[in-house]
Amino acid sequence: MNQLARISKLYGEAEMKKVGIPRALIYYKFSEMWKTFFKELGAEVVISPETTKKIKADSVVAAPDEDCYSTKLYFGHTMALKNKVDYLFIPRFGGSHKTFVGCPKFIGLAEVLRSLFPDLPEMIMPHYNRAKEGDSKVNFLTKAYKIGLKFTKNPFRIIGAIRKALRVQKDYYRSLIIDEETLHKWERSEILLNDPPFINNYDRQLKIALVGHSYVLNDPYSSMNIRLILQEHGVDLITSEQMPRNLIDKQLSKFDYELYFDYEREILGTIMHFIESKTVDGIIHLMVFSCGPDSIAGEIAARVSKRDPAIPLLQLVFDELTAETGLKTRIEAFIDMLRRSEAEQVIFLSTKVRI
Ligand code: SF4
Repeated sequence: MNQLARISKLYGEAEMKKVGIPRALIYYKFSEMWKTFFKELGAEVVISPETTKKIKADSVVAAPDEDCYSTKLYFGHTMALKNKVDYLFIPRFGGSHKTFVGCPKFIGLAEVLRSLFPDLPEMIMPHYNRAKEGDSKVNFLTKAYKIGLKFTKNPFRIIGAIRKALRVQKDYYRSLIIDEETLHKWERSEILLNDPPFINNYDRQLKIALVGHSYVLNDPYSSMNIRLILQEHGVDLITSEQMPRNLIDKQLSKFDYELYFDYEREILGTIMHFIESKTVDGIIHLMVFSCGPDSIAGEIAARVSKRDPAIPLLQLVFDELTAETGLKTRIEAFIDMLRRSEAEQVIFLSTKVRI
């Protein structure tokens, strides 16, 4: 018996357990932290595959009709894991900001799934809500420690896993979110922040801010590969996830009311920044059909854009019926208009299209 096996036996560690994490919703914000945590505890982490046509079809069958498209996809991803893992990790996440909150759907999903599908594997479903429940860092550590006890009784291993997971998440944020200086370099076209655009000889490079939820921006299937389509049309992108937080707060402070949805602040703050700075050619806002927070942010964004329409804003609404051809047509028309508008200085009003 080797050293590791002896230590494992000493602390009563069970054989390697499989933890399934659906590749949807806040997975796109916290996946690095979660994967590291469970791996460090000795678990095997199984992530559901990238969204496919089959996952979408399973989502539509499994999820309640009235759910937003992104929540529906969470059901399909859960179904893709259910026979492959010992546990499903589905946190009831209210938000990690001291004032602002996430979507209530993030909190309710685990319970809804458990009541609709009682035969699912055991769920690890910690509740965390800094703003509403006042969950402190100590609460976070206590909850994480309790999860760790499912995999090992070794306190050093659990504490080590938590520390490493937090460090990895911090590094991830550092690599994703840029500071103001980096933003200005991008605005002056001195650096790229994403994959380089494909430029034809006769095209000039366009700069576009692509804004939306991380689970739409980073899921090629549910966003219909919009990043690739833009790249192929010679577009240099920045996304709302990458924006400096201080600029977002600065924009939102202009209202005499608070927008409490954390992720919508990211979206709206980005749109407002670029409408004001005029450092991009256009803004594309990816919205999710039947998303309450998106409709609020979308309406405010459209009004801000109407007051100052120099930077065109295209709002696209996605759902399970969205067709790739329709999306491509809209994007191409928008890009053509941006290329023409530089020469003709036309004024374009924001438009919301459900594809
Ligand atoms: S914020 Fe909108 S898109 Fe996201 S889960 Fe909530 S309702 Fe759905």
